[in-house]
Amino acid sequence: MIARVKRDYYEVLGISKGASEADVKKAYRKLARKLHPDVNPGDTTAQKKFQEVQEAYEVLQDPEKRKAYDRFGHAGPRVEEGPEGGFDFGGYGFGGGAPGGGAPSFEDLGGIFGNLFGGMGGGAFRGGAAAADARATMEIPFRTSVFGGTLQLQTTRRVVCPTCHGTGRKGRGACPTCRGQGRIASMEKLKVNVPAGIRDGGTIRIPGKGDTGAAGAAGDLYVTIKVSPHPYFERRDDDILGVVPITIREAYSGAEISVPTVHGRIRAKVPPGTQGGQRFRLRGKGVRDPRTEASGDHVYTVKIVVPKNLTPAGREAAALFDSLYEGDPRAGLPDGLD
Ligand SMILES: [Zn+2]
Repeated sequence: MIARVKRDYYEVLGISKGASEADVKKAYRKLARKLHPDVNPGDTTAQKKFQEVQEAYEVLQDPEKRKAYDRFGHAGPRVEEGPEGGFDFGGYGFGGGAPGGGAPSFEDLGGIFGNLFGGMGGGAFRGGAAAADARATMEIPFRTSVFGGTLQLQTTRRVVCPTCHGTGRKGRGACPTCRGQGRIASMEKLKVNVPAGIRDGGTIRIPGKGDTGAAGAAGDLYVTIKVSPHPYFERRDDDILGVVPITIREAYSGAEISVPTVHGRIRAKVPPGTQGGQRFRLRGKGVRDPRTEASGDHVYTVKIVVPKNLTPAGREAAALFDSLYEGDPRAGLPDGLD
């Protein structure tokens, strides 16, 4: 087997080993925006780079996977090499990744994967064990966090051994299937109904899908949701944030512009004399909270962009603009800390 030469994940994202989780997210968003196949149709180099970035992000954004990667590098124990992918008895939890081999859509960025925390680790399979709640994490696309949906989650949980029905005995000896433990690990694919509006870090309880005790009753499964960042939209509570570039003329004279929101584009007015960095709010165009049923807002910040095409006529127009300022726009700024 020929080993593929892989670049260091930190190098791929252009960050240092000590980068914070926020830095990882930031670097990923920046690169994903630049390299996304929608932005580079037919560009296979960009596509390869995008996949590389995607893979690096999936590992580095997850504290467990990152820890394993820091320790073992690419050569570390990896679940992708297993027959199923998606979980790992060693507890390193590399796995999943973007569904399918093709380029994921903007919504799929980050991929969907689930892995069990503490599922198969130490202390499993004690005889006469009681039912217990289990925990899993699942990364969901940004779109699903806003509008909800049904996703598949692969988990392992302990179920009653089908050979000995939980007794742990077979004839005079220990049951060979469960080695006398009465329970076995079972990999299951669950359908998870994700409610619209769920936040990053939110939990979904799936009754009866935790570990089964020797008596046959099962605990519940608690799925912690991790929302993949979107390359453009950002969520703050139930508000959605975005940046909208406008021209100098639009800022100065006012205009009607088209603003992207999670609900599609919305026409909005830019008032005359709008300043760069000014924020506007489209009421109710954010995310609907699943509990209160109240909707957040879409908040966009305008960014005045200057034409890159520099011409004498443009310089003249700019000089004219300059003559319209009343005094120094930087008057009143401090000289330093004193
Ligand atoms: Zn058994």
